Amino acid sequence: MRRTRLVAGNWKMHGSRASNDGLLDALIQGLNAGGAECAVCPPFPYLQQVAERLRGTALAWGVQNLSEHAQGAYTGEVSAAMARDFGCRYAIVGHSERRQLYGEGDAQVAAKFAAAQGAGLTPILCVGETLQEREAGRSEAVVARQLDEVLKRTAFEDAVLAYEPVWAIGTGRTATPEQAQQVHAFLRKRVSSGTRILYGGSVKAQNAAAIFAMPDVDGGLIGGASLVAEEFAAIVRAGERIRQ
Ligand code: PEP
Repeated sequence: MRRTRLVAGNWKMHGSRASNDGLLDALIQGLNAGGAECAVCPPFPYLQQVAERLRGTALAWGVQNLSEHAQGAYTGEVSAAMARDFGCRYAIVGHSERRQLYGEGDAQVAAKFAAAQGAGLTPILCVGETLQEREAGRSEAVVARQLDEVLKRTAFEDAVLAYEPVWAIGTGRTATPEQAQQVHAFLRKRVSSGTRILYGGSVKAQNAAAIFAMPDVDGGLIGGASLVAEEFAAIVRAGERIRQ
């Protein structure tokens, strides 16, 4: 089954109007249309800026999080429909920082996934184990639990899965291509053969090609390196070079 690679940048809580302009301009110039799909997920206040700059280009955009509720008295929250209103294609749900720092549990993440789908967004569901869980040999059990909570509630259609081992996020310690492939192959059995499974965790220009060459790795979710245009563009190009 042929799957178009996707490389998505998670800007986290970084950026300013001025720095975003520079980054977006450099990305538009540095990326070719074709090969791999590419998306950026800025902080909410910059969605308008990103939408204005990227509309009509090959780059898509999305949100890093959203509310599981459609609307109402939820101070500080942003709904899936609002993200759609700003032209978002993607919504990251269940990022480990949301799970760890904001106490989002599997059921809430599944509700966010359903809310994204319901508004016509493509959810990017993040799953991944901590170092302690890996060392206890529980990597597969943890990602299965996180994914199954979503599958219990809704079909995994028009959705992307991202394996992001928590111990590899922002640490400079990447999973080896073989470690990534092992978990991706395990996840693949639970979703359709057409579902894209991204790897995330300290992907850089210099290690992207080896990871993307694995048969069940369909691209990457990129944090720190997505803030540096040349680095991000090189990662996208690494995805384009690998044939499915
Ligand atoms: C992430 O936050 O999703 C991520 C993968 O971060 P980094 O690339 O910085 O490890």
